[in-house]
Amino acid sequence: MNTPLIDIDLLPRTPPMPVLFIGHGSPMNTLEDNVFTRSWEKLATELPRPAAILCVSAHWETDGVAATAQPWPQTIHDFHGFPDALYAMQYKAPGAPAVAGWLAAHLGAQEDLHWGLDHGTWSVLCRLYPQADIPVLQLSLDRQLDSAGHYRLGQQLAPLRERGVLILGSGNIVHNLRLMTRHGSYPWADQFDQYIASAILRADHDAVVHYARQGDAAQQSVNSAEHFLPLLYVLGAAGPRHRVSFPTEGMALGSLSMRSVRLDAPHP
Ligand code: ZN
Repeated sequence: MNTPLIDIDLLPRTPPMPVLFIGHGSPMNTLEDNVFTRSWEKLATELPRPAAILCVSAHWETDGVAATAQPWPQTIHDFHGFPDALYAMQYKAPGAPAVAGWLAAHLGAQEDLHWGLDHGTWSVLCRLYPQADIPVLQLSLDRQLDSAGHYRLGQQLAPLRERGVLILGSGNIVHNLRLMTRHGSYPWADQFDQYIASAILRADHDAVVHYARQGDAAQQSVNSAEHFLPLLYVLGAAGPRHRVSFPTEGMALGSLSMRSVRLDAPHP
């Protein structure tokens, strides 16, 4: 079993790690085998092995920014009404207190000892890295920031990529639980998902940050922003020049975009 990291300066310099956004959808993806979970499993085999993983999950909002700093973060079951097997799930990865210390020094993040890994993190990581042998920490979403503020924080994460840290955003580009249906996707959901995908492809991050300009389609797709915001960290950390791929695409339950986004440094 890995021991927690001691000091970020001890991490060897690496070529910039790719950054990832994953549309996590229902917590049931932890237990199910479907087209989305298979794409996550495949993705992990294609990535360089990270020294640590920094996850910005839709499911941790705070006043001011915080980072989990425990050597062994607890597994949090932050949902209601799911099968017992989901509550029994444990993802026993070590933490990364040294990275939390770096975030405290460089972003002013509070080092948190109470949260842990919520299902936004572990429902995805249990498919990407089922061995749970890579140190993981979470960065919270500061409720006081606007979307441009979240993007700027993402930009500040970029140096971690050159220490082998995988920056992972976990949310959903389209996320409207109120309108979930088994009768196909909504036109506004497809339209907004496509709009964001095409803005990412042309590196028009301003269009993503100011997604609300898309009017009704944006309002219905992002009916509360927390699932969308992790994408902004990933784009900020990627910077303006990168290669784009979408390892997962598709809509679940009509109003959950399962699109994942991988951004790689340009070829030298
Ligand atoms: Zn969620």
